[in-house]
Amino acid sequence: MEPLETHEHDVIVIGAGGAGLRAAIEASAHGCTVALVCKSLLGKAHTVMAEGGIAAALAHVDPQDGWQTHFKDTMKGGSFLNHWRMAQLHAQEAPDRVRELEEWGALFDRTPDGRILQRAFGGHTWKRLAHVGDRTGLEMIRTLQDRGVHQGLDVHMECTVTKLFTDGGRIAGALAYRRDSGRFMLFRCRAVVIATGGVGKAYKVTSNSWEYTGDGQSLAYETGAELIDMEFLQFHPTGMVWPPGVMGILVTEGVRGEGGILRNSQNERFMWRYLPEARRHEYAADEDEARRWVEASVEGQQTDARRPPELSTRDNVARAIYTEVREGRGTPHGGAYLDISYMPAERVIKKLPSMYHQFMELADVDITQQPMEVGPTTHYMMGGVRVEPDTGAATVPGLFAAGEASAGMHGANRLGGNSLSDLVVFGRRAGAGAARYAIELGGAPAISDAEVDAEIRDLLSPFERSSGESPYQVHAALNECMGKNVGIFRVHEDLELAVRELEGLKARAAKVWVTGSRVYNPGWHLARDLRNMLIVSEAIARSALLRKESRGAHSRLDYTGVDEALGQVNMCVTRTATGMRVTPTPLPHMPAELKALFDSAPPVAAQAAGTQPAGKSS
Ligand SMILES: Cc1cc2nc3c(=O)[nH]c(=O)nc-3n(C[C@H](O)[C@H](O)[C@H](O)COP(=O)(O)OP(=O)(O)OC[C@H]3O[C@@H](n4cnc5c(N)ncnc54)[C@H](O)[C@@H]3O)c2cc1C
Repeated sequence: MEPLETHEHDVIVIGAGGAGLRAAIEASAHGCTVALVCKSLLGKAHTVMAEGGIAAALAHVDPQDGWQTHFKDTMKGGSFLNHWRMAQLHAQEAPDRVRELEEWGALFDRTPDGRILQRAFGGHTWKRLAHVGDRTGLEMIRTLQDRGVHQGLDVHMECTVTKLFTDGGRIAGALAYRRDSGRFMLFRCRAVVIATGGVGKAYKVTSNSWEYTGDGQSLAYETGAELIDMEFLQFHPTGMVWPPGVMGILVTEGVRGEGGILRNSQNERFMWRYLPEARRHEYAADEDEARRWVEASVEGQQTDARRPPELSTRDNVARAIYTEVREGRGTPHGGAYLDISYMPAERVIKKLPSMYHQFMELADVDITQQPMEVGPTTHYMMGGVRVEPDTGAATVPGLFAAGEASAGMHGANRLGGNSLSDLVVFGRRAGAGAARYAIELGGAPAISDAEVDAEIRDLLSPFERSSGESPYQVHAALNECMGKNVGIFRVHEDLELAVRELEGLKARAAKVWVTGSRVYNPGWHLARDLRNMLIVSEAIARSALLRKESRGAHSRLDYTGVDEALGQVNMCVTRTATGMRVTPTPLPHMPAELKALFDSAPPVAAQAAGTQPAGKSS
């Protein structure tokens, strides 16, 4: 066995997106030595792709806003499956975290009187998203990265963590390999923060980059931590549908926030037909009212007009577009038209520069002159590692999680803009939680040499074989299985089939063969990523099977209504000696003073799903 590069720190943060950077900055500020480990280059994490903005009740544009309304919107958006305490902390602390980013150098778009500008987004009652054109994530990453690097974080780029080790049930360290050389690294530590993002690469059509293979969720699961809400996977309504090579790339909700209109091939503005009855009163009644809202929004003025129907929640808009296409009213490439070309071209280019260039360069479409063609794309994982809200602690001592890899904050469906704020609110809390834990722990836990050797042998096993399938073949089969059986609309038979097919895929993944060297070998990397994607896929399918209702992002054609009993539980995934187990666990009890914030309508009334098609998902 080659000599092992070894590092020792108080806290290891896995992932250098918004959550990981914010956690690392906080742990370091608490006096801990911190290593920040990431699969790609610093600055390239998924957060950099975030476009539309960061949600915070700053009340700069709509003075009526406040944390209470943000809290209520988040709970309603999540169909009340969110952990109330996370939604509360998030709504209360997001404004301070945005101001902190500004203090650290982030330059947000401004109101005419020089304050941070805020835009509208689906499901948010007021204009709430602080933004930098449609490049908000880039500004956020740049700011956090500068702050972290100057604070002296020890950054390890292009290193993939494959295993966590424990000592007497407590976190003791992690094994990683360097992507450039294929050499292994051992991290000894007292606490680990998982901030590895989502799982989109289990699906073929996705807005997610190659890094999103569910590594953090799988690392936590294999270490004995609980995962929750894995059935809730968000399909963003607007991804590119053409040309094929760019299918799935995100078209920001900012387009609809700026007044983008959705139409079908018959030129019908169809979203009015899909508004849930319980929330119809929140939206413009007709074209005229929607136009007045957009005009006031452009001018930065207050209005009594209600927002356009395109600003319904993501799950609802995704189902609407899917249904239009299914029923034969789709565009030539199987989507809907999203039109912002009626606005002055200079405004479109100023507010949506990335969208303008994205469509011009990738699809030869000038969005200031023509509508875009858009359709649903796998986007965001609401489920993940179960954490304690105040500290980000997972259910394994010494393990913490934040950002998209964690769960509880968004319940059954995330509102746009609530992820970037989640990253900084709970990144900070997880960093502090991990630091306090590490300081209190004292002596360093031990890592078993035999476990390290076993992990390295397992990692190298695809090179040892002289025949077998390519990991790419198994990945393609996984994408096919998840897209066909565990997509936007789900039924019992498909979900059962998925679980059976996943068993077969696990056996195939265990026997894949890779050739070449360990230097930048993407086939070898995929061989490992496959294991993680299979774990999260199984968790999604098994949790979806048990949730016999339609709620938030989870739509069952065989159970189209909500089930009040299931509205009281999270699906909890754990590892047992005999395999994966999913059990319903009760939701935490919301205190009376928070319950009182909701008006007389019972919470479940807000959950009525949108219109469902007659057929099944494909
Ligand atoms: C195109 C797009 C636009 C979006 N726009 C918005 C928006 O406007 N507003 C909003 O609120 N949300 C938006 N989102 C969602 C939001 O960007 C993400 O949910 C969020 O950035 C996730 O941040 P994170 O810190 O959890 O993870 P990420 O930013 O994805 O970072 C994950 C990190 O983990 C590392 N990593 C992963 N696995 C390993 C491993 N095994 N070992 C080592 N490192 C690992 C990666 O290299 C990376 O550094 C958007 C998402 C997309 C895809």
